[in-house]
Amino acid sequence: MKKTLKSYIKRKITGIYENKIGTFFFKQKGFCPCCEKEVFFIARNPWLRDHFKCSNCNCIPRERALMLTIKNEYPNWQHLKIHESSPGTRGHSVLLRKKAKSYTETQYFPNEELGCIVNGIRCEDLEQQTFPDGQFDLVITSDVMEHIYEPDKAFQEIYRTLKPGGAHIFSVPIINKHNPTQRWAKKDANGNPQFLFEPEWHGNPVSKKGSPVTMHWGYDIVDFIKTHTAAEVKIVYLDDLSHGIRAEYIEIIVMKKPALHGQA
Ligand SMILES: [Zn+2]
Repeated sequence: MKKTLKSYIKRKITGIYENKIGTFFFKQKGFCPCCEKEVFFIARNPWLRDHFKCSNCNCIPRERALMLTIKNEYPNWQHLKIHESSPGTRGHSVLLRKKAKSYTETQYFPNEELGCIVNGIRCEDLEQQTFPDGQFDLVITSDVMEHIYEPDKAFQEIYRTLKPGGAHIFSVPIINKHNPTQRWAKKDANGNPQFLFEPEWHGNPVSKKGSPVTMHWGYDIVDFIKTHTAAEVKIVYLDDLSHGIRAEYIEIIVMKKPALHGQA
C-alpha cells in the first residue's frame, strides 16, 4: 500500500515536471565575457535565447555575444568613449558601466527634454540626438533597433556621432532571416504605434507598457544601413559554448565608420 502511494506520488511529480516545467536541462562550463569569471551556463528551457543563463551574473547569450564582439573588434574598449542607448542592469551593460573609462548611458523618456539628465541618465532620442558630431568610439545597443520608428534616421544619427574608425555594435533579432525586412508598425498622429500586422510588444525596463516592435529585420539590414550611411557593415554570428554563446537570433552587427586616411 505504502509503496503504491509512493510510486503514485512519484508519477504525479514527474508528470508535473514534464508537463509544466519540462525535463530540458543543459549545462556548460566556460568563461563569461560579461562578468569575466569561470562559470556554468545553465538552461532549463530549450529556448536558449532567454534561458541559457550565466550562473554568476544571470546574463543571456546575446549579451555575451555582444560583449565578446566588442572585445574582439576593439580590444582596447576600456579606454574608449562609449555611448550605450537603453542599457540594462545585466550582462554587457554592467561590465561597460564598471570598466569603461568613458561610458555614457541614455534612455528615451518621452516627457523629458532631450539632452537633460533624469536620475543620472541622459534623455536622448536615437532618431534626433543632441550629441555633437564625432563624439564616440563605440555606440552600443542591445535589442533596440527593432523598436525604432525611423531606423534610417537612427542609423544616420548614430553614424554622425561616431568618430572615424568607431563603430555601432549591436544585437537585433533578424527574425526575417533571408526574407526582406518588413516594417511592422508606424507612429500614428498621437505618437502611438499603429501596427501593420499582429501587434507585438517586448519588455522595456523604463516603461510598464513595453516597447512596440516596429521592424522585422532580415539580413538585408546590412543593405539598409549602407543605403543610409557610409558605414562598413558586417554581421557576426557566434556559436561558442566556451563563452556560453548558443541560441537563435543572436547575430551581432558591426557598423563601422571608415577610418580617416592614414588612421590605423
Ligand atoms: Zn556572467
